[in-house]
Amino acid sequence: MGRLILVSNRLPVILDQGADGLSARVAAGGLATGLSGPHQRSGGRWIGWPGVTSPDGTLTAEMHQVLAAKAMDGIGLTAEQHERYYTHISNRCLWPLFHYFPERVHFDAEDWKAYQEVNHRFAEVVLEKVQPDDLVFVQDFHLTLLPGLLRLAMPQLRIGFFLHIPFPSSEIFRIFAEREAVLDGILGADMVGFHTLAYVRHFRSAVSRLLGAETRSTEVQYHGRRIRLLAQPLGIDPEDWQGDTGGADVEQQMKELRAAAAGRRIILGVERLDYTKGVPERLRAFGELLSQEPGLVDEIMMIQIAVPSRVEAEEYRDLKNEVDRIAGDINSRHGRPGLQALHYQYRGVPPHVLRALYRIADVCLVTPLRDGLNLVAKEFVASRSEDSGVLVLSENIGAAWELGEALRVNPYDPAAMVACLRQALAMPLAEQRARMQPMRMRVERATVHVWAENCIDAIASAQQGSAPPLLEPQDKLNLDQEWLAAERRTLFLDYDGTLREFTDRPEQARPTTEVLELLGALSEAPATAVWVISGRPAPLLQEWLGATGVGLIAEHGAFLRRPGDTEFCSLLGQFPLDWKHEVRALMEEFAARVPGSRIEEKPLGIAWHYREANAELAVWQARELYQHLEETLTDQGLEVQRGSRVVEVRPAAVSKGRAALEVLQIAAPLSGMIGTGTGTPYDASHLLLALGDDRTDESMFRSLPASAWTVLVGSRGSSARWRLPDPAAARSLLASMPVSSPTA
Ligand code: UDP
Repeated sequence: MGRLILVSNRLPVILDQGADGLSARVAAGGLATGLSGPHQRSGGRWIGWPGVTSPDGTLTAEMHQVLAAKAMDGIGLTAEQHERYYTHISNRCLWPLFHYFPERVHFDAEDWKAYQEVNHRFAEVVLEKVQPDDLVFVQDFHLTLLPGLLRLAMPQLRIGFFLHIPFPSSEIFRIFAEREAVLDGILGADMVGFHTLAYVRHFRSAVSRLLGAETRSTEVQYHGRRIRLLAQPLGIDPEDWQGDTGGADVEQQMKELRAAAAGRRIILGVERLDYTKGVPERLRAFGELLSQEPGLVDEIMMIQIAVPSRVEAEEYRDLKNEVDRIAGDINSRHGRPGLQALHYQYRGVPPHVLRALYRIADVCLVTPLRDGLNLVAKEFVASRSEDSGVLVLSENIGAAWELGEALRVNPYDPAAMVACLRQALAMPLAEQRARMQPMRMRVERATVHVWAENCIDAIASAQQGSAPPLLEPQDKLNLDQEWLAAERRTLFLDYDGTLREFTDRPEQARPTTEVLELLGALSEAPATAVWVISGRPAPLLQEWLGATGVGLIAEHGAFLRRPGDTEFCSLLGQFPLDWKHEVRALMEEFAARVPGSRIEEKPLGIAWHYREANAELAVWQARELYQHLEETLTDQGLEVQRGSRVVEVRPAAVSKGRAALEVLQIAAPLSGMIGTGTGTPYDASHLLLALGDDRTDESMFRSLPASAWTVLVGSRGSSARWRLPDPAAARSLLASMPVSSPTA
């Protein structure tokens, strides 16, 4: 399958300079736990910054060596680069913005340059190390530009990107000065992963509004590629927390904590001290509860662990001062000598202490104002082997989607916070168990290993499901050989998006001289029938292409005009058209709702086009129209189709596939071949070449024999055997066919 190349801002490693030289200690952490297995098994690399800066932004040979021994490649940065890229853009722009704190965003164009520069630096190192069949998995908001840079350099590379923080509503995201660059960079990946479906939805709407790209539920079409969106919450390794993990140390710690609690029940909070975590709000709620019921201080206590974070930043220092003040205030107002109401610790705790805290707490408060996921909640749940205890979750965190049995609270609502605390403290044991047990089962199943596997599988399969392989020069040589060896050839060529690029308005997509000359030359080739097979109306095709001598199939296969003829004949016979009135009325309603969209009447069908409309609104409305039409029309022998920015209704009996087969039947007697009656009048001496870009071309690809040369123009899931990137490539393929006499 290729190796797994992991890329993250920080390598999961700590470099130590000891007496006998430099060593690298692998730091435990959620991601490292989940990804190290697949990484090692695949023989891959982990690329990132090892935590040291130098004046010239390089690492020493010794550092490279120590990292290489752990299958890692370090990226050196200068202190200034690191400050601008990491501290400023990542932590002072993207972090607050994505967590809904726009007022805390400080954007500076010089910092942005450094962010670009560092992403380029990462790209250089990845490109040095990567092999074409490797799978690259990029982590998080520090590296949003990296997937795009890799895609540019290696169009076929399989790339995944995972965002570990929320993706905010597009209304918030659009505030960011470099919003398009961020989206464009992320969309370089084949698979973009988020913790929740809500983040997928926000991302889709940002992409559709800001880039005008077409999106479907878990898919984005961008620059001819399909990008898969995945909602896959990160998990933990439950084995780290379950049962008696940690042994005697944890037991001892639990004893000490029980003694300190002196029979009181324990409310626990654990987090990095970050303004997103809602620590002041939580402590205030606790203080308020004690104010309302002063006697409670004899029954409950709170332990708040606040791990110092980003201490170099002023706003984090301000936050610390605020929390210090609130904590001091609670203890001075509610404590007594020998009875502290709040144990507040501004320091991380060792793993055995954390385990003891999770096991001994009666209530765990996880109430960030906003959090991408939150692992503390899952660790607490996994630690509750007896299924007792109450988990309180903020409704603004990713984990709230999975842990639905927890008590949920709006952390911005002080009264609700107090009420929720009361409810948690009053919860009977049976209810605690009924809520905790299903959550524990879920956390035990959806582990970090499952997360890693699912992400990697999604990256590996994103391209497979999406597009056929490119038609490479070797394939072209084979095509030339078959072309020369064939006794005759039939070409089916879609027009819009295949022979000719789309334009803003369909009537502007007249054939260029290049297209006309190309078709003329092909149709003059001996024993070669060329058919343009299009959704366009017959009169228009006649006007635009009539003079080239090619055969024309109009309206997706409803009408046909043989090469050299001037008249179209219907492939349908008489088909009732009374349904058109109803459909037109409905489409008119949608056309009125979506400015820039319009209706096209065809003799047999009717279409609603939205190419020029606002993409987000139009796609949403198109879905609604499609659904509505599907439900009402399919039993009338009609078919509703979604093409490229168009919803169209026409008789179900019409398709490009049927028309293509019809053409082959008609053509057979002309050249003395005998059709089989049921199958295709086709044998190995008859070369078939079909080019198309649209979903309506799929019926053509599917109806032709497996040996036909079916080529998708663009990139998406298709039954075509090959693909070409764009109409220019399609024209150049056709122009380079060896147009000479058949050899046989
Ligand atoms: N944690 C820690 N030391 C501590 C307290 C917490 O290592 O003293 C860990 C905790 O076990 C959890 C992580 O820090 O795995 C916090 O992750 P979370 O997703 O809750 O928040 P983040 O800090 O990533 O925003």
